Amino acid sequence: MTRIDHLIANTIREDVRAGHVYNVPDASGYVKLDAMENPYVLPESLRIELGRRLADAALNRYPVPSYATLKQRIRARLGVPAGHDVILGNGSDEIIAILCMACARQMPNGKGGRAVVLAPVPAFVMFQRSAQFAGMDFVGVPLKPDFSLDMPAMLAAIAEHRPALVFLAYPNNPTGNLYDAADMVAIIEALGETGIAVVDEAYQPFAGTSFMARLPQYPNMVVMRTLSKLGLAGIRLGYLAAAPALLEQFDKVRPPYNINVLTQVAAEFALDHLDVLDGQAALLNAARADLAQALAALPGVTVFPSSANFITLRVPDPQQTCAKLFEARVLIKNLSRMHALLAGCIRVTVSTPEENSVFLNALKASL
Ligand code: PMP
Repeated sequence: MTRIDHLIANTIREDVRAGHVYNVPDASGYVKLDAMENPYVLPESLRIELGRRLADAALNRYPVPSYATLKQRIRARLGVPAGHDVILGNGSDEIIAILCMACARQMPNGKGGRAVVLAPVPAFVMFQRSAQFAGMDFVGVPLKPDFSLDMPAMLAAIAEHRPALVFLAYPNNPTGNLYDAADMVAIIEALGETGIAVVDEAYQPFAGTSFMARLPQYPNMVVMRTLSKLGLAGIRLGYLAAAPALLEQFDKVRPPYNINVLTQVAAEFALDHLDVLDGQAALLNAARADLAQALAALPGVTVFPSSANFITLRVPDPQQTCAKLFEARVLIKNLSRMHALLAGCIRVTVSTPEENSVFLNALKASL
């Protein structure tokens, strides 16, 4: 062992040493359909205006840490109910980490003394990773084979583990479906005053439904969203809507100045032109219907219903399909080894009609 190996062994946590970096393949030269990005950019006139606004940003100053203007725009434009507020994250990734950090209590009687994060699985991987990094236990409750919630199993796991946080992605990634709203409510109610239900609405622009308006009914529910899928993945802005008293606690854990001034200016600008982004989401929703229909017609392919900007499908040989698509310079996500329920599954982002047909043709050739 070298000196640096000794240093690492003496300092870095064992689970971190054993883990791996969140893997994002290099996409240059590829049709990128693996990360649920919006393929459309802002129109030229808006980009020029945004350039002017960014040029005026005070890069020599720290951001004003209350982010009052941006928060006000979010509350007003994105349907946050009266009496509720938001906190901001550097992507909703950071909000997930903040939630876990704030709830990672030492439990007096719990197993191993660790607080618990619970989520149906397969789920977005950062729920488990953030729980682990915060020193919490993660309990994954398998979905049913049609990707709906297994309610007896969920309620039993909640009663047994008394999770501090339950993450419910609505719609879920990587499966694309919306859970039954009455099931979600039953989970929120089962948690009562002992746990916080985090409704993760990252894909809300494509879902046509939301739990946001129900915030006043359920003080133990918080609603997390992001501007990423709407078309601003590059600026990294997520937000969490909840009762102010709860947000005050999470805000203590948030790193100061976590949203930089360029993001702040760009987000305020984008929210003034939300109609443009909503229009792009509408195009993608229409394209999703077309793509799902074309996929369903292919022999040996099973398409799962999606309310997100991606489609999850089962193919006879996911390994070969992904390899063939890669040769055709199309990047998608092979889900087949992520979870037993995802055997044979791949996930593709819905994109422009042109990119969707590049994918479709390459897929056909691979089958
Ligand atoms: N939640 C879900 C369900 C996601 O799929 C993602 C991104 N893939 C995120 C949260 C994180 O999004 P971001 O950090 O870009 O806001």
